Amino acid sequence: MQHQLAQDINALQQQLMAFAARQKSVALVPTMGALHAGHLALITAAKQLADEVVVSIFVNPKQFGAGEDFTKYPRPLEADIEAANKAGAALIYAPSGDDMYPDGFSTSISVGPIADILCGAHRPGHFDGVATVVAKLLLRVLPTVTVFGEKDYQQLCVIRRLVADMDMPITIAGAAIVREEDGLAMSSRNAYLSEEERATAPKLFEILQTTKSNILSDASNVDRALNAAKAALKEAGFALDYLELRKEHTLEPVGAADVHNARLLVAAALGKTRLIDNIAMGDA
Ligand code: AMP
Repeated sequence: MQHQLAQDINALQQQLMAFAARQKSVALVPTMGALHAGHLALITAAKQLADEVVVSIFVNPKQFGAGEDFTKYPRPLEADIEAANKAGAALIYAPSGDDMYPDGFSTSISVGPIADILCGAHRPGHFDGVATVVAKLLLRVLPTVTVFGEKDYQQLCVIRRLVADMDMPITIAGAAIVREEDGLAMSSRNAYLSEEERATAPKLFEILQTTKSNILSDASNVDRALNAAKAALKEAGFALDYLELRKEHTLEPVGAADVHNARLLVAAALGKTRLIDNIAMGDA
């Protein structure tokens, strides 16, 4: 199998033409690098859905707010290339900022209300940056399928909306959250946690699981379950951005009758590190 690195759009297009000449279908896995087992699971899933997997690695400045971690975000490119290749990627596309946003670039894509709630409310402009870069990546690569992780569940919903609204002929596949043994959802940002914070971090998922079972055992009392969870998070040392029960896919508020078709979503900081997680209410 061929392992290639493209660092600008011309090199990317050459590689894509080589795939097309061999009539290979292409899957795209967009990432910001610092690859861990969660990313590698997306590559494995993508391999099942197309002949060749392209992994993009781009720390997108447009999705970071002022004062967020854009400059300190980890960028271990060599290790990422090796890991992605080992997982089965045929091509790594790691463009520079100038390749993605040349002089004069000015378009911003706003997906609408689904991007303004939850993380969008706490990180203004974040999903505009995500939608803009993902639209560019999808149009540059034109894959038949692209794979996103449920770890960033709202992002997956925003991308589904974007691709449907803009008639992009691309299938979106969602992949389950990959967790550490203690339940913490894998994330490139986990590396920021101090030893003490790392010991506390799994409580985020534990509290989600407890809250899920409390809601399922008494759906008439969702607010009470959410309030108990918020108190437990605070007690454990988390600074909460939000904890909300929302409808699958649309992320609209959910009534008591509909709790099985919902997601429980949380964002909370431990020290300076913001963690997100979510759990499907319908799974066993
Ligand atoms: P990122 O590099 O954080 O932008 O993530 C790139 C892709 O990997 C996104 O689709 C994420 O949802 C997905 N991803 C990140 N962490 C995980 C995880 N623990 N499990 C599954 N997918 C993940």
